[in-house]
Parts: sequence; C-alpha cells; structure tokens
Amino acid sequence: MTSLVFPTETSSSYVEVTPLKSLELSAFTLCMRVATELRGEREVILFAYRTQNYDELNVWRELNGRLSFYLAGEGVFFRTPELGPMETHLCVTWDSQSGASAIFVDGRKSLTKIYKKNHRIRSGGKIILGQDPDNFVRDFDQNQSFVGEIYDVNMWDSVLSQTEIQDLLSRKQVQPGNVIDWNSANIRTHGQVQMVSLEV
Ligand code: CA
Ligand code: CA
Repeated sequence: MTSLVFPTETSSSYVEVTPLKSLELSAFTLCMRVATELRGEREVILFAYRTQNYDELNVWRELNGRLSFYLAGEGVFFRTPELGPMETHLCVTWDSQSGASAIFVDGRKSLTKIYKKNHRIRSGGKIILGQDPDNFVRDFDQNQSFVGEIYDVNMWDSVLSQTEIQDLLSRKQVQPGNVIDWNSANIRTHGQVQMVSLEV
C-alpha cells in the first residue's frame, strides 16, 4: 500500500488526491492512518477539502491536542486519545440530517456531538493532504503543515457503522471508499513528500 511521508515542516510540500466523485455531501466517513512526532506545540492539518471560497472540510489536530473538523466555518472539537508517533487509525463521521458527528480513534468512538445540521458540503473543490490552503489552492502556512506519515485515506458519502470502522482498523474487507479509495486513488505529490510502499 502506498504511504506518504512528510519529512519536514514546509509551506510547499503537499499532496493532491483526486476523488472518485463530486464532494457534494450531506454525510461522510473519512478515515486515515496517521503518525506524527509533532507534539502539542501547534495546530496540524490532517485533511483539507477546499473550494474557491471555503475550507469545506478541514480536519485538524489542534494546539491543545484535541481533534477537530470544520465545515466552512466554526469547527467541532473532540477530546480523544492524542495522536502520536505510533500509527493511529482515525475516522471522522458526520451526518447532515441529524448533525451527529463523531471521531473514532483506533476503533473507539468519541461521544457524539451535534454539528452543522442541514449543512451540505459543496462540490468543485480540491483535496489536499499536508497543507491548509487559505485560498484556492494556495497560501499555505508552514506552521500548520503536516509532518509525519499518512496513508490509507478513504472516504465514503455515508456514515459507516462502528463495526465497519473496527473492520477497517483490522484491515478486514469492507466496502471500498466511494469518494476516496486509497487503493486506486490518483495521488500527486509536490515538494518533499515521499511516496513509499508499505507491506501490510
Ligand atoms: Ca491556514
Ligand atoms: Ca484554510
């Protein structure tokens, strides 16, 4: 499986992932495996989907170690076990109809928070790993960049069950992501990002 190593802090290293379908979404599950040796000294971007005028979906490790995501505006924050230097399997789920959102860390679910009920994520953007664009798609800040390893990034346009998320963690066969399927994803690296092949 392809894995991405971001060796140093930059404002120029990033990866663009081409989705399988438009990200006009009223629900999603986004999962990844991630490891970073950055401690709590700054915020770290984990995933960015940016349209012309909005950060439609950003996932962050916040300054205080909380995990968060933002859908075009104020974010929702979760106290969870912190990301660290050993690989963590991380999933984020959100459903527009109920506003139910949750974070799963190594298959364990956070509490549910109600966030952005009836919101819709808009199509026409780009998916960026490693940097937070503040414009389409540029204006990166190295103090928000990702440093570490990230891979197995998959996305669905629905909320997966807790059992399915635990199956993903243990690499059992589940329905492949219908928005991002890491095994077949078109991944373009820029700057110092290294693609490595992992035996899993
Ligand atoms: Ca920024
Ligand atoms: Ca931004």
